[in-house]
Amino acid sequence: MDWKPVLAAIEAATAPHIGSGKVADYIPALARVDPSKFGMAVVLGSGEMLTLGDSHEPFSIQSISKVFTLSMALRWFGESVWDRVGREPSGSAFNSIIQLENEKGIPRNPLINAGAIVITDMLVAASSADAVVNELIARLRRFSGDETIKIDEEVAESESATGSRNRALAYFMASFGNMNNSVEESLGAYFRQCAVRMSCRQLARAALFLAFDGRDPITREQMVSREYCRRINAVMMSCGHYDNSGDFAYRIGLPGKSGVGGGILAVAPGHGVIATWSPGLNAAGTSMVGAVALEELVEATGWSVFV
Ligand code: GLN
Repeated sequence: MDWKPVLAAIEAATAPHIGSGKVADYIPALARVDPSKFGMAVVLGSGEMLTLGDSHEPFSIQSISKVFTLSMALRWFGESVWDRVGREPSGSAFNSIIQLENEKGIPRNPLINAGAIVITDMLVAASSADAVVNELIARLRRFSGDETIKIDEEVAESESATGSRNRALAYFMASFGNMNNSVEESLGAYFRQCAVRMSCRQLARAALFLAFDGRDPITREQMVSREYCRRINAVMMSCGHYDNSGDFAYRIGLPGKSGVGGGILAVAPGHGVIATWSPGLNAAGTSMVGAVALEELVEATGWSVFV
């Protein structure tokens, strides 16, 4: 593929929107980020990388971390993951508590906050909060080939200091017996996984296995089985953007995951992985400019899974 016109089309489509949307400010340490940033990286199976804008600049990956912890949980525990969390779209906000009472403390899916907290709780129960975070960072470093990837401790602390909503979700699930560790221990790991800082280049590279049947095409390491890879992508397609998942599937048609730091990770099975970053969010917490960039990318490449 000739990438030059593709990248030029993405640049032209995004330019009028740069700075639009609202930067997340419910985590105070995130509010300081410059809203005019935009970066993008596309990594292909050959390892070739195409980039635009601020693709080198690390940002807070936030909820995109949920894809990596889900992968770890499926690898460690297999099908039993689904005893404690569902796999249906929630149709509600990422931090909503409303369904949890009716559904007896079983979160709708692993990509909303409640579901991701349960996944992290499972991992922590099988090892420890530090071990889970260390394993996550070690994998991200190994696959992106970059030892500098780290947790932004200030963001983790800021999120913990303002984390009443996530504590409410976790205590509510604990009341139904769906937490195996103390709420503080599991949330400590959850806040830290969300506070990992990575650039678009590193993120797209680290997630490359998701486009190639669970196997990293460069190192040839099988990260998750082929079956689970397919299913992680299915969950991303149906649940990756909370109450905006249907709109994202309609506009872009790729499995994806957004984070309130302004990142979006999108998987084009068999082709490659794309990471975008632009801090201004829509009401559901998905990056506005990132979605425009991905919309243009699928238009120009024909990479939508619905062709
Ligand atoms: N760390 C954030 C939270 O728990 C993640 C939310 C998100 O990125 N959508 O509120």
